[in-house]
Amino acid sequence: MLRRVAEGVWVHESEFCQSKAVVVQGRGGVLLIDAGVLSDELACLANDLSDSGQTVVAGFSTHPHWDHLLWHPRLGAAPRYGTARCAATVRERLSGGVDAVAKAAGIPEEVPLDLLGLITGLPAETARIPWDGPGVRIVEHQAHAPGHAALLIEERGVLVAGDMLSDVLVPMLDLNGAVDPIEDYLAALRLLEGVAGDVDVFVPGHGSVGGADEAHARIDQDRAYLQSLRDGRPLSDPRVGPSAKDGWEWVAGVHERQLQRLT
Ligand SMILES: [Zn+2]
Repeated sequence: MLRRVAEGVWVHESEFCQSKAVVVQGRGGVLLIDAGVLSDELACLANDLSDSGQTVVAGFSTHPHWDHLLWHPRLGAAPRYGTARCAATVRERLSGGVDAVAKAAGIPEEVPLDLLGLITGLPAETARIPWDGPGVRIVEHQAHAPGHAALLIEERGVLVAGDMLSDVLVPMLDLNGAVDPIEDYLAALRLLEGVAGDVDVFVPGHGSVGGADEAHARIDQDRAYLQSLRDGRPLSDPRVGPSAKDGWEWVAGVHERQLQRLT
C-alpha cells in the first residue's frame, strides 16, 4: 500500500526491516527509489502503480547493499541509476555471481534476485537524477556503504536518507576499506544537517518517516552514538539493549561488532 508523505511523493513499506521504497510523481511517470525487498511486495507495488495508471520511468538505488538493489519484472525496464561508486561496487561484488552473494548475505528466499543490481552509474559529480520530474538532488557521501547517496526532492521538501537517520538502526559503518569510518560518518551527518533545514519530511531506508524536528533529533542521536564509539564512552542509545523496538534486538549485535572492529 502506498502512503503519501508529501505532494507527489509516496512510500511503500516492506515487512523486511521496515524498508522504505519511495515513489516520486514526474510528468510522464514515476521515479522509484530503492524499489523494495520481498517478491510479493514488489508485485503489490507494481499493481498499485498500474492501478493508478502510472509507469516507472526511472529507478535509483541509494547504495550497493542487496536490499536496495532489487527490482521486479512488472516494474518495467526503465533505467535504474546509482552513483558511479555505488555502481562500481555493485559490479565488483556481483562479479562472482548472484548466488554467491545471496548465500554470503543470507538473503531470504522470498527475495527476487533476477534483476538484482542492474544499475547504471551516473557520472561522478552528477547533481540531479536525469528524469522528467521534480528536481532530485544527489547528496553523495561516504558513510554506511561506498557511493551512498541521500536524495533531496527540493520542490517537495522531502529528503530520502538511504540507510542514514534511522530510529531503529544505529549508524552502520562502512568497515570495508574506509580509512576512518567514524569521521566519514560524522562528515556525512554534517552534510545531511546542511540540507535538513530545507525539508519537511525525511524517509530513512529502514524505520519511521519523520518531520524536520525529528531529522535534527536523529542527527544528534547518531552523532552521540558515533562519539561514544570513537571515545570509548559507555553507550546510552535507545536502539541498543532492552529499549530496542520489538524485532530489532539484533541491532545490539551490530553495535558489538562495530565496537570490536574499532577498538
Ligand atoms: Zn545498507
